[in-house]
Amino acid sequence: MKDKFAIIGAGFSGLAMANALKKKNIDFEVFDANEKIGGNWYNVVYNSGHTITPAKMMEFPDFKMPEYFPVFPSKNQILDYLNDFVEKMGLVEHIHQNHAVKSIKKKGDQKWVVLFENGKQEKYTGIILAIGLFRQPMIPTYEGEFSGEILHSSQYKSPDVLRGKNVLVVGAGNSGVDIAVESGLNADRTDVSLRDTPWIIPKTLGKRPITDYLSPSIPKWMKKSILKIGHNVMFGNIESYGMPKPNHKLFTKPPTVNESFIHSLKHGRFNPKTEIKNYEGKKVNFKDGTSQEYDTIIFATGYRPSYKILEEDVIPYENNRPTLVHGVFTPLKKGIYVIGSGVPNNGIGPVVYANANLIAKAIEIQEKTDQPVGSLYANVGEKVNPLRTHPAKCIKRFEKLVELSDSLT
Ligand SMILES: Cc1cc2nc3c(=O)[nH]c(=O)nc-3n(C[C@H](O)[C@H](O)[C@H](O)COP(=O)(O)OP(=O)(O)OC[C@H]3O[C@@H](n4cnc5c(N)ncnc54)[C@H](O)[C@@H]3O)c2cc1C
Repeated sequence: MKDKFAIIGAGFSGLAMANALKKKNIDFEVFDANEKIGGNWYNVVYNSGHTITPAKMMEFPDFKMPEYFPVFPSKNQILDYLNDFVEKMGLVEHIHQNHAVKSIKKKGDQKWVVLFENGKQEKYTGIILAIGLFRQPMIPTYEGEFSGEILHSSQYKSPDVLRGKNVLVVGAGNSGVDIAVESGLNADRTDVSLRDTPWIIPKTLGKRPITDYLSPSIPKWMKKSILKIGHNVMFGNIESYGMPKPNHKLFTKPPTVNESFIHSLKHGRFNPKTEIKNYEGKKVNFKDGTSQEYDTIIFATGYRPSYKILEEDVIPYENNRPTLVHGVFTPLKKGIYVIGSGVPNNGIGPVVYANANLIAKAIEIQEKTDQPVGSLYANVGEKVNPLRTHPAKCIKRFEKLVELSDSLT
């Protein structure tokens, strides 16, 4: 049987991968659990969602977003863009929707067997996991029981569910602040519970998107000063509106990029609260000794990545976290690659484009050796994890690894 690869996931990462394999004439199929393509832009982002990064930083280098798109496109515009990509790049016939993968297994040196939730199974030479980072929604637990409704931000789609309700939003990351603003306009009461206030930075400074000031060519001290000036000019002293200042230094945790949250706070549309202490029925007791009754709590408290569809010995783990070589390879097995394992909120298109080119190259290298290519790539390139850094740095690193690939065998 001819070599064929399975790409699991049809979001930005899976589609970039499909495009790269098609260009190299490598045979593949794409499978996704959702009924439509787009990944979490289809099934997670709420209806009113817009990008945080400008369109120009999100588009694939070989497929530009339309000129008429705004600087920060909407969820629907991103989905239109990805559908257009799939059609123009001739990927449609390779994509199978409603195909949730249950497990991926291999016996000895045979091919990888993909078992689908619908009972079907297929065999492939290699697997590319493009399943995204948003696999396991995280909801913290507290003492007592809450008798109202609990939602995770991934379940929140539109403010209809908030009307006439007392709502508590937990967390002020990029999703939490959007949901808090929407709740402030629609619910009877909105509170926002924070363990620590994030640094909130505006989407634009003057005429330019804030991301223009975050380039790796700008020294860190200068970036910090620019962002602090931006924060102060846009928002002023947030403490005077009842929001505690961040108690961590800028860039030690991901900042939140948003303009309407502080606007909403200034207009009294929500009240800041401390961290939850415990529940008593519909009552939530907070750590500062205050209490309030709520109908709904929305936890915008993030996700954990998970590669549980693979058997335990495929990817090495340290402290329960997967340790992929360059965020892409496993040194343990042949034919398993991961795309999009980092940079969740910042310019996905160019990063996964470079990530896909590296995997397409590694597939060629793997044909020449019996060792898993991951163990070869582990010996070259930088050792620090590139995937939480600026997209431009990630891209450079992937391109460098492509250059080094031919010297590996
Ligand atoms: C509100 C919000 C705003 C964001 N804004 C930005 C932004 O401005 N800029 C930016 O770059 N990023 C942003 N992101 C991050 C976003 O995750 C990326 O843009 C991008 O969607 C990641 O693509 P992906 O293909 O890697 O993963 P995903 O989009 O998560 O796609 C993974 C796909 O894999 C499928 N899948 C998973 N497991 C299985 C399985 N077992 N079987 C079959 N299919 C499976 C899923 O159904 C899904 O379709 C934002 C995210 C959110 C939630």
